[in-house]
Amino acid sequence: MSEANPFESLQEQVDDAAAYLDVDEDVIGRLKHPERVLELTLSVELDDGTLEQFRAFRSQFNGDRGPYKGGIRYHPNVTRDEVKALSGWMAYKCAVVDIPYGGGKGGIVVDPREYSTNELERLTRSYATELRPFVGPERDIPAPDVNTGQREMNWFKDTYETLERTTAPGVITGKAKSSGGSAGRIEATGRSVMLAAREVFDYLGTDIEGATVAVQGFGNAGSVAATLIDDLGASVVAVSDSSGAIYDPDGLDPRAVKSHKAETGSVSDYGDAEAKTNEELLTLDVDLLVPAALENAIDGDLARDVRADVIVEAANGPLTPDADDVLTERDVHVVPDILANAGGVTVSYFEWVQNRQRFPWTEARVNDELESVITSAFDELVDAFESHDVPNLRTAAYVVAIRRIVESYREGGNWP
Ligand code: GLU
Repeated sequence: MSEANPFESLQEQVDDAAAYLDVDEDVIGRLKHPERVLELTLSVELDDGTLEQFRAFRSQFNGDRGPYKGGIRYHPNVTRDEVKALSGWMAYKCAVVDIPYGGGKGGIVVDPREYSTNELERLTRSYATELRPFVGPERDIPAPDVNTGQREMNWFKDTYETLERTTAPGVITGKAKSSGGSAGRIEATGRSVMLAAREVFDYLGTDIEGATVAVQGFGNAGSVAATLIDDLGASVVAVSDSSGAIYDPDGLDPRAVKSHKAETGSVSDYGDAEAKTNEELLTLDVDLLVPAALENAIDGDLARDVRADVIVEAANGPLTPDADDVLTERDVHVVPDILANAGGVTVSYFEWVQNRQRFPWTEARVNDELESVITSAFDELVDAFESHDVPNLRTAAYVVAIRRIVESYREGGNWP
């Protein structure tokens, strides 16, 4: 795993694409830094009555196309630069799939496994209280990310509504259905990874049915992606989580692995599967590799050993720019995070639309609309890839996204 600074990686990705666009450097400069980063120290009372301080952030990257939008991550390795990078990836992601949002991201430096439910509730409510003046359905709309889910979203919404003395379910997405959440939101990230995999195999003229697949990370995105890709007739031969990887050349049953993880806490020791390290999983000779864990999973050195033909990024930022260079040279096709995992924020957008209209959609409608957003975005990506002579699909995605953001910026102009 590389120590690359994700914020520098983001800036490099933007520069790589800007070279193919007729946009002045000063305007590109606006798109390489967040507009605003809030840094907080939250003092939270623990169950034993003592106080503990937690560092927390919210980065609002770009608001040209609509309210800031992006998840909240709870992880001990959260840093200011990581949150800034993730907020930028959100801005580009929303532009690639053409939903009317800017980008944002939040994070708290915490290992949630070390705290009780009551402590996590107080931490979340404290974060929501501090963020209250900066968020809102028209301002900045948080969502789940690593180690957060419906429970944290429901607490956040309740805190905001209580303090504002109103109802405003659209202040946050990824809520439980009964709190205004959308059908299909939990599966949405993994579903778009499956759709992106299906589209890229189709584009390359290869059959996904029978393709072998390795998935690194078996959280929400990875486990759903594995299941839905398996449903397309592919064979998921390896999956991993922080405990290590499991491998079965005859194919694993992702649903059964998920139950095993729910019962035992990890994917290890599943049936007769062979144990492997995460690095061994990433270099398996498979048709499709899906990194679905954290940033920097594959750096330039490891990229030389990757044997997959196609990579579809379920995580945000799993490949360093060096890895991209090596993989491009080696003709490995990478469907970038900002398109492949955009299903999460796309269904968040559907949730926000449903909240504004107070009119819930069926799961079938959510999935249909999601499919049309991801397939159109993929077609636009391929168009940009073929017509701009860019080296890879990531640069093509940034070309599409930067063009869209710059267009709204130019229409609004710079002020003051
Ligand atoms: N955390 C997810 C992402 O990285 C979802 C963000 C959202 O739904 O706003 O795309």
